[in-house]
Amino acid sequence: MKALVVGGGVAGPATALALHQVGIEATVLEAWPRSDGEAGSWFTLAPNGLHALDLLGARHLAAGIGFPSERNVMAGATGRVLGSMSLGVPLEDGTVAVTMKRSRLAAALLGEAERRGIEVCHASRVTEVASSSDGVTVNLEDGSTVAGDLLVGADGVRSMVRQAIDPHAAPARYVGLTNFGGITERTPLAATLPARQWHFVFGSRAFFGAHPTPDGDVVWFVNVPGPAITRAERAARTPEQWQDRLVELLADDAGPAADLVRTGRLELWADNTHDLPRVARWHRDRMVIVGDAAHAPSPSSGQGASLALEDAVVLATCLRDGGTVEEALTAYDTARRDRVERIVAAGARSSSSKIPGRTGRAVRDAMMRLVFRFVVTERSSAWITGHRVRWDPEAAPALPSGS
Ligand SMILES: Cc1cc2nc3c(=O)[nH]c(=O)nc-3n(C[C@H](O)[C@H](O)[C@H](O)COP(=O)(O)OP(=O)(O)OC[C@H]3O[C@@H](n4cnc5c(N)ncnc54)[C@H](O)[C@@H]3O)c2cc1C
Repeated sequence: MKALVVGGGVAGPATALALHQVGIEATVLEAWPRSDGEAGSWFTLAPNGLHALDLLGARHLAAGIGFPSERNVMAGATGRVLGSMSLGVPLEDGTVAVTMKRSRLAAALLGEAERRGIEVCHASRVTEVASSSDGVTVNLEDGSTVAGDLLVGADGVRSMVRQAIDPHAAPARYVGLTNFGGITERTPLAATLPARQWHFVFGSRAFFGAHPTPDGDVVWFVNVPGPAITRAERAARTPEQWQDRLVELLADDAGPAADLVRTGRLELWADNTHDLPRVARWHRDRMVIVGDAAHAPSPSSGQGASLALEDAVVLATCLRDGGTVEEALTAYDTARRDRVERIVAAGARSSSSKIPGRTGRAVRDAMMRLVFRFVVTERSSAWITGHRVRWDPEAAPALPSGS
């Protein structure tokens, strides 16, 4: 069997590695040219995602590009701590969550795929896909066509494969926050933040997050509530002007937020945040979607990449364990849907809590203290980060070509 995987982010190369592991040949088609992995924002891979990566024999990649993160500590605009919780149930050997650049993880996974002999095609934007009961074809921007037995759409929240499976699929939803991210290098402010922790501030006008790195840098992000920023609005300010705007928004809040942003460098700006609440159809004929293409949770969930890695393992397992392609894709949908939809819903609640409401600051802080004490706790979140997808090596071999 030959699988065409559209997308070389997190889900695409992870799925190619998983398919390769069960004997299915895969080709990854990524729209952008090969990158150095330095673009965009930082994120945290939770233990459930690290476990999936481990099953793919690729956990060392995360350790090589990231640093450990143990806790989230939440404060209000006055600096008063509202709550604190671990970043998830550690793996059996004690490994905790890892913070890294998203683009570095994608580059590392693509490199690992190539190292294992998987074909990775950069600068290969897919423009059209077709599927029948016999096989799949994709057209590329350069006019060429590629054929295979299975098409995996790992093409992100604006997935074209999702639309091909179901032209009526609802588009992604703006969650009311615009994201900015950056880094302040070699800063004395790093020493003011506890190591191995995300420091979050429910600020008076924006939500702020910062994490010191082992090198003495601080990586940070700012979520600004408000209507989505249009392309024209984004282009109307330079990154430095956006940075000045963020400093204004953070100026009244206690802690190092405003100083970190003022002395740092923006790496991501005016990026509207979306989620994808429910996609009714994840597969049709020989096409299937994984990762953000199927179920993008809001970034506030801290779970998108981990879910993409879990998907990769489960999809490969279902294809390996026999039956027709249609049966395998149905089994994958059944195995994954409930979990990911619950996490998308939890992520949406988490995003809403970052948007200051009509209540005053003191009331909001009091409510958040109660939420972190009784509602969003390590215990209540254990089902998310304590989940471990299974990879049973004793199961049946992969589907033969054309089944
Ligand atoms: C600001 C921010 C912070 C986040 N923080 C976290 C976090 O802390 N923890 C976490 O787990 N997740 C986090 N996430 C979510 C995480 O980044 C995503 O869930 C994850 O990247 C999804 O991976 P994916 O491969 O499904 O999609 P993507 O990473 O979007 O990759 C899709 C790929 O498909 C390619 N593509 C698209 N269309 C085509 C086409 N037509 N032809 C060929 N290629 C195509 C794209 O170029 C891209 O490389 C965050 C997201 C954002 C935006």
